Amino acid sequence: GLDINWAVDWVRRSADVVSEHRVELINLDREIGDGDHGENMDRGFQAVLPKLDDLPAGSTPGDVLKLVATTLISTVGGAAGPLYGTAYLRASSAVGGEVSLDGNAVAALLQAGRDGIVARGKAESGDKTMVDAWTPAVDAAASAAAGGADAAAVLRAAADAAAAGAVATEPLVARKGRASYLGERSAGHRDPGAQSSALLLEAAAEAAS
Ligand code: ADP
Ligand code: MG
Ligand code: MG
Repeated sequence: GLDINWAVDWVRRSADVVSEHRVELINLDREIGDGDHGENMDRGFQAVLPKLDDLPAGSTPGDVLKLVATTLISTVGGAAGPLYGTAYLRASSAVGGEVSLDGNAVAALLQAGRDGIVARGKAESGDKTMVDAWTPAVDAAASAAAGGADAAAVLRAAADAAAAGAVATEPLVARKGRASYLGERSAGHRDPGAQSSALLLEAAAEAAS
């Protein structure tokens, strides 16, 4: 199963990948939003990094997820801060104090995260938001776990589905968030939050492999 080392590695890899893709996320958000998504996410994950060193001995994956949640809520801002914050908070609650996560626990973690985003933002599938990366990821994770896949394989299935989901936002017309102000003109661009979600889930899968 996946333990605290996986969770910490996931956060470090998330910070790396968000920083590497900062300009790409800014450019996606410039097309259909206000151009700050890469900056918002980079600021948030850079703020988590030093806090990882202060985690007390015996911390669990759930503690790491909670630390990410509180830090993102206080540093990311915009629409994405509270949405991701809620996702990590719900994911933390879903795994509770478990020290080792199997495939089913990872699938439950992802589902709770997605449900948190939906509860907070009220977006439906096809609204051209981060939900369009998370929902296929959650579905792929659930079927992998039901088929007996281990935690790493569940995350791989989720990451691949999220990447495809992010690409599939391109033709969609936005119905939530800033991009919805553009109406039909939002079509033809990838949603920045769906793209950052795919990057974060890819980081989770790589940390597990
Ligand atoms: P802001 O739009 O406030 O500048 P960001 O640029 O950081 O915030 O984040 C924009 C992303 O947030 C969008 O690309 C979209 O994926 C996501 N988003 C916005 N509103 C919602 C919502 N109601 N539900 C889910 N995701 C949303
Ligand atoms: Mg923005
Ligand atoms: Mg903004």
